Amino acid sequence: MIELLFLLLPIAAAYGWYMGHRSAKKDQEDISNKLSRDYVTGVNFLLSNQTEKAVDLFLDMLQKQEAENEIEKSSQFEAELTLGNLFRSRGEVDRALRIHQALDQSPDYSFEQKLLAKQQLIRDFMSVGFFDRAEALCIVLIDEPEFAEGALQQLSVIYQKTKEWKKAVNVAEKLAKISPQDDNIELAQFYCEYACTLSANGKEDKQALLRQALQVSPSCVRASILLGKEFMAREDYQSAVKIFENVLNQNADFVGEILSVLKECYTRLGQLDNFELFLIRASQTGNADVDLALADLIEKKDSRIAAQNKVYNQLKQHPGMVLYHRFIQYQIDDAEAGRARDSLVLLHKMVGERIRQGFSYRCINCGYQSHKLMWCCPSCRQWEKIKPNKGI
Ligand SMILES: [Zn+2]
Repeated sequence: MIELLFLLLPIAAAYGWYMGHRSAKKDQEDISNKLSRDYVTGVNFLLSNQTEKAVDLFLDMLQKQEAENEIEKSSQFEAELTLGNLFRSRGEVDRALRIHQALDQSPDYSFEQKLLAKQQLIRDFMSVGFFDRAEALCIVLIDEPEFAEGALQQLSVIYQKTKEWKKAVNVAEKLAKISPQDDNIELAQFYCEYACTLSANGKEDKQALLRQALQVSPSCVRASILLGKEFMAREDYQSAVKIFENVLNQNADFVGEILSVLKECYTRLGQLDNFELFLIRASQTGNADVDLALADLIEKKDSRIAAQNKVYNQLKQHPGMVLYHRFIQYQIDDAEAGRARDSLVLLHKMVGERIRQGFSYRCINCGYQSHKLMWCCPSCRQWEKIKPNKGI
């Protein structure tokens, strides 16, 4: 709604001129008062979230202005531009397109004004999915210093929608030069997306792309996982281990994602003791997957009692359903047949069902929940906002 309020500023400006002009020329204070009232009513509609009513009212005001041909040229341009934007905000994109295209082609307006019209045309085309036309206009605007950043941002949106990741990388690299960011999350994710499209025997170096991702965004867990898997494919398990273990430093929330591949690497290397050392370090973070993997190792190496004690101690420090489920299993194994054991079996089943129903991942930006890990939230379209639900 704030955006709509800003959108209405040109109307306010045009109307200020219109009202002053009308009242000075014809001394029609009653008309001015009516227009002022209309404008205030429109803003009040906006403030009370009645957007539809507000847009209708402003459209009516602008069309009345146009019909009476009372606006000076520069104000008319702004009013028409706004009129088009209002049509777009109401979903009438064909009318928005007609208005903005007429402004862009009119001999009455300057080069700079036409750039503004092009900027709105891009939004019109984007809203109806004509990405190729929006792209062509963005490419024109990139050469104009004042419009370059906005045009690159629109191009980035287009290439994400069309999944043209090489182009998305180029655009994000240019954007990073124009306005450097602290994290470069999008650029790193685009390197990863592009790397995923490359075939194993292609000309482009997949590893180099993933290293670039880590260079621009050192906390990019996805790049580490992909790079580790690349090393595994080449049977370079030592390098894979190094890169997988680094996930613990990058973002401990994601350590559950690398446990199975890390275990496989250590198994191939014949160094399961080192896997245990890693799990002991990682268990400080209270990740249930780590605790279960550690309990399995302890049971194999030492005894079931030792594994049970480990789970019990972890459960006291980091309570969670997954660990509790395992703990009940140990209790069932120890219990003698009878009502107490039957109750434990029932409880184990219920907790297991609850875990299965729960979502493993959740977007910290919009709350979207998922059973699988996604790097771009399908709901809010933000990158790296979906995180594992710890312990459920
Ligand atoms: Zn989201």
